[in-house]
Amino acid sequence: MTQDRPDPHFTPALDAGAVLAQLSAYRSLDAPTHGGSVLSYVYDSGLAELDELAGRAVQLALPVNGLDPTTFPSVALMEADLVSFGRTILHGSEAVGSVTSGGTESCLLAVKAARDRWAAAGPADGRPRLVLPASAHAAFHKAAHYLGLDLEVVPVDPVTGVPDGRDLIGRLDERTALVVVSAPSYPHGVLDPVVEVAAAAAERGVPCHVDACIGGLVLPFWAEAGGVAAPEWDFRVPGVSSISADLHKFGYAPKGASLLLFADRELDLERYFALTDWPGYPVVNPTILGSRSATSLAAAWAVTTALGVSGYTDLTRQMVAATTEVTRCLDQITGLRVLGEPAGPLLAVVADETVPAEDRVHPHLWAAASARRGFILQGQPALQQTDGSWLPRSTHLTITPATAGVLPALTATLHESAEEVRGATVELPADLPVPDPATLAAGARRSGDLDLTQVLALIEALPRDVSATLLSQFLAAFTAPSS
Ligand SMILES: *Cc1c(COP(=O)(O)O)cnc(C)c1O
Repeated sequence: MTQDRPDPHFTPALDAGAVLAQLSAYRSLDAPTHGGSVLSYVYDSGLAELDELAGRAVQLALPVNGLDPTTFPSVALMEADLVSFGRTILHGSEAVGSVTSGGTESCLLAVKAARDRWAAAGPADGRPRLVLPASAHAAFHKAAHYLGLDLEVVPVDPVTGVPDGRDLIGRLDERTALVVVSAPSYPHGVLDPVVEVAAAAAERGVPCHVDACIGGLVLPFWAEAGGVAAPEWDFRVPGVSSISADLHKFGYAPKGASLLLFADRELDLERYFALTDWPGYPVVNPTILGSRSATSLAAAWAVTTALGVSGYTDLTRQMVAATTEVTRCLDQITGLRVLGEPAGPLLAVVADETVPAEDRVHPHLWAAASARRGFILQGQPALQQTDGSWLPRSTHLTITPATAGVLPALTATLHESAEEVRGATVELPADLPVPDPATLAAGARRSGDLDLTQVLALIEALPRDVSATLLSQFLAAFTAPSS
């Protein structure tokens, strides 16, 4: 149907210009998505032409329904190209898989496939189990929760952020449906002992998922771009059965795209849901959604195709240089240190406990001081592990190519912010009043500022189930219509 002639029955409530003006007004409240001042959530290549290209690809794919690639073969073709690109960079010449809506969906489906294979193999008694380090992404906790698996969380070394491979291997038994390792972990940016764990898992017939959601499109280029080469973690490693790699992170695609690849076709097939036993159309879904947009797929396809290996390597070169520079800056700041040995462009910054208390820098106060200067860093609360040890509170920095363009301002901010808060601590009242989430949400909506330092301190102080419930209530109130 063309829309050349105005439809006489169409009486718009608001004309397009006014609608877009309202959207622009809403958008003006958002954190900047470009320019390198937000060091999490957004992955800015710094290339305006890539964003332009993604937008045009979205426009082309806008009306398509990804539900049925036989009706819309463009979906199958774009997906095959992306899987092929994944095969190249992750060294899995036979790997198979799909493009999903994001890292969480890739992780959920990796767990679903492993769970169903475990069940099909003639189950041991009890529920299937997921073995993972404490640093594995929350998406795996969500997967276990949604899919009915028990979690076996293995502590990581609080100094290096890395789990001992033997601890993970020691937990593998007949109830283990899947073991997860990260390349690298989101909280600390460090690489898990993939080679050791994958080999032992294979010996025991347990699949091993490498969560490279964040690293999958940057670590493959890191050494070539001048960074320190990490040990192998991809499909070259025997025993690695699946890998997730987010196109909407260091793939520089708009949100809504991740790759999930399997070394083994049979395991890959366990990810599907198919149904002919209902009166409607025959259903076969490789991913969680039914009808699905092809826009993110098309945008990711366009960006990836335009960049190719050489484009990603060039962008990674900028990040290697920027990460070196930021690390050097942090090394010069008394009272802070980088946790462990980051394998790529993600840094977790913690207070340096080796200096006197008055010289230490509280990482969340530091983040708040940086925010006042225009750089948004991400606070991560301290966490007590199952062995009683504490993972220190930290502030997370994701370096992107756009960071390279703002290095003088960023490093000055990191220095000045540390000066400002050095020696200060966060105090919560002894008789901790549990805040009312609705009041917090109303305040945050009105003034746009939420004291994240206090929120993180509360999370550290309250039982974790209490703070999780509070967060849900807060977000429900924050997003609800105000009248
Ligand atoms: C981002 C991330 C995820 C989850 O991905 P989303 O795209 O946010 O759903 C999973 N694992 C790691 C290591 C990540 O960095």
